[in-house]
Amino acid sequence: MTAVPLLGSCLCSGVRYQIDGPLSPIDLCHCSMCRKAHGTAYSSNAVAAAADFRWLAGIALLTEYASSPHRRKYFCRQCGSQLQIRRTDRPEIVVVCMGSLDSPTDSRPAHHVFCDARADWDEPGTDLPRYRIYPGHEPEDTPA
Ligand SMILES: [Zn+2]
Ligand SMILES: [Zn+2]
Repeated sequence: MTAVPLLGSCLCSGVRYQIDGPLSPIDLCHCSMCRKAHGTAYSSNAVAAAADFRWLAGIALLTEYASSPHRRKYFCRQCGSQLQIRRTDRPEIVVVCMGSLDSPTDSRPAHHVFCDARADWDEPGTDLPRYRIYPGHEPEDTPA
């Protein structure tokens, strides 16, 4: 079982947060807003109770962007890390951008969503080689 509190932070460590409760399974979101905001093929997001979430440091570094009428994306204006999405129509929850989480968690990806909006170069289901570090830089120089 996941130990709480869960801790998270941005790339520059200026913004830090704590979650005193469970996370939902993880959505892998291919929507165009997530792809743009995260600079990735898809974002990795889980839901926590808003009552369990608190910022520990760096509130002055937080910037919010209204990505759609009911969504506010929170990110660090110093390093650009996406940290949280708030839904103004569901104030009781927060959406945690899982790449910012520092603590281990039992939450695992549950599904891919908004797949109709996926990037054309993003080929789902491809069984590409996986490296622990990078080709040519593996401890034993073999795929993991
Ligand atoms: Zn930062
Ligand atoms: Zn999305």
